[in-house]
Amino acid sequence: MKVLFVAAEAAPIVKVGGLGDVAGSLPPSLMRLGVDIRVAIPWYPDIDAVTWKISENKGVGETRLGDTDVPVYLLSRDVFANTGKHEAIVGTDEEEKWFAGFCAAIIEFIRGSDWKPDVFHGNDWHVAQALEHFEKATTEELRSWGYASANLASLVTIHNLSYHTEVLRKAILSADLINAVSPSYAREILTEEFCEGLCAELNERKVDLSGVINGIDYGFWDPKKDAFISSQYGGENWMEGKKRNKEALVAKLGFSANDRLLLGFVGRLDPHQKGVLVLAGAIERLVNMGCQVVILGSGNARAEKALQQVCERHPESCKALLKYDEALAHQIYAGADALVIPSRFEPCGLIQMIAMKYGTLPIAHAVGGLKDTIQDGKNGILYENYDSSAFVQAVERAYRMFTDQGSQWGNMVQSAMKADFSWDRSAQEYVKLYERALEKSKNTHSMSLRHI
Ligand code: ADP
Repeated sequence: MKVLFVAAEAAPIVKVGGLGDVAGSLPPSLMRLGVDIRVAIPWYPDIDAVTWKISENKGVGETRLGDTDVPVYLLSRDVFANTGKHEAIVGTDEEEKWFAGFCAAIIEFIRGSDWKPDVFHGNDWHVAQALEHFEKATTEELRSWGYASANLASLVTIHNLSYHTEVLRKAILSADLINAVSPSYAREILTEEFCEGLCAELNERKVDLSGVINGIDYGFWDPKKDAFISSQYGGENWMEGKKRNKEALVAKLGFSANDRLLLGFVGRLDPHQKGVLVLAGAIERLVNMGCQVVILGSGNARAEKALQQVCERHPESCKALLKYDEALAHQIYAGADALVIPSRFEPCGLIQMIAMKYGTLPIAHAVGGLKDTIQDGKNGILYENYDSSAFVQAVERAYRMFTDQGSQWGNMVQSAMKADFSWDRSAQEYVKLYERALEKSKNTHSMSLRHI
């Protein structure tokens, strides 16, 4: 089976968030299952041709995904030529124009390539116009591209409904199948609270919508071989390992003590999704409780200012680092005791899975993928209401467990480190979705031929 996997970013080549992690780690897992998978991403100007050994063929850049054998195509260099460094999406009209250009390049690529995908697997709103084109393409058009049976099945994965929703709407209406990145999010997006105005469209396509939980790449996220952290460790020596990493982190942050409950936050500072104002509103109480807080993230001026201001009042126990910094993210996963995730919605969330692998307990709002991956009181802490008080109460619960001399905290850390969020199972679910999409598009095609 030949699959073209198309995304706005793919780690390690280019990444600003979880989509990059997924596009960097799901395709290699699919390749191990025998899928002939290739990845296409935009050719951003900040992708270094030498580092990634890019060769050019008729205007298309060609490389591999990190140290894997998965081929990567870099498309539409001209469209992105003046966009500068690849940043998180903020919702401008300009972004829509860039990705419309990217979609035109995808169509052109499939049309002109000798390698014809059976399945087009697109991610998020960025691929909408391409999906729309495939849906409307006539049998003659697809035949002229080289499709013998005029078949190009499609799947769109929803990582986040909240960006360029009107464009994403087209993708939802055009793809053969749709999936969200966790079973809970797949259910939530059928409701007013989470559908971002697309309730009618999503409910119309309910039978074609499923949820597949994301995995993480343990080749990259592993405290045993993580070169970004000062002391490597595993389940057998987590206590010593985390203590050393915490000491290093606390020293780096300039905090006064290293025996406090150290809370980390890593993520895009999007107030609509990530609960950053809930966090800002809680910090005073967290610090008074005796916690230390380190925040790593950027992306929204209002949130940045709110966090910066409250941390400046408590420099000995709160620090907001307003930037994207891969090494520091790893140091926080390794050195913090708990990772706070006060998101209003979370389609899947990778940070809780990463944190667990590093023995850092997630304290999270029970929503979306967070409630599909965290077991309250067993490998983390979940709380129900989306507000600062509920969040502070959850941290208080954690604080009592952490300072208690009993074994509950340690047992939870060990259980978190043992949890398996590798891609193996989910990659198999994607293969089944590809087969279903092919089946569906064949049936649709033979039905439409019957109508002729
Ligand atoms: P989302 O996809 O909504 O951005 P996820 O939890 O799925 O959130 O994934 C976030 C990914 O981006 C993780 O790999 C996390 O470590 C990384 N990340 C987010 N913000 C930063 C930052 N400021 N510095 C370094 N890594 C970051």
